[in-house]
Amino acid sequence: MLSVTCKIRLSAAGVHLFDRVSGMNVLFDEVPVPAEQFSRAPRYLSVALTNACELHCAYCYAPKHTAALVRERVLAWAVELDAAGCLGVGFGGGEPTAYRRFAQLCSDIARSTSMAVTFTTHGHRLTPELVESLGPLWHRWSAAREV
Ligand code: SF4
Repeated sequence: MLSVTCKIRLSAAGVHLFDRVSGMNVLFDEVPVPAEQFSRAPRYLSVALTNACELHCAYCYAPKHTAALVRERVLAWAVELDAAGCLGVGFGGGEPTAYRRFAQLCSDIARSTSMAVTFTTHGHRLTPELVESLGPLWHRWSAAREV
């Protein structure tokens, strides 16, 4: 049997149901939500983990120095925002896969929150090893659907 666990976010737009495994989004915009019940966090969080990137796209606005966020701080933000109603975090940069222990950070956030974890990449660093290390996220989310 298949079950779906939805996260619920309340806002001026209505009642928003989100399932991070399937990506299902349903917004009941006809349901009025009192302002005092609005989620305190933004719907989605975009984080530039690092400015580092080995490419030189002419249109890129990212500074190419190697500044990077502290992993523990990013995880703490994710946990706090998850509790306040955020539905997902998307990593960019720079190139997020250049971030040290990137797969571990994704895994930690997936395990510690109910948010979706996504990232934008140029793809050149998607080695079989990295894909393999990100793979358990999908398997874990899939397993959560089984009853
Ligand atoms: S791949 Fe992205 S971060 Fe890298 S240079 Fe191009 S636009 Fe900038």
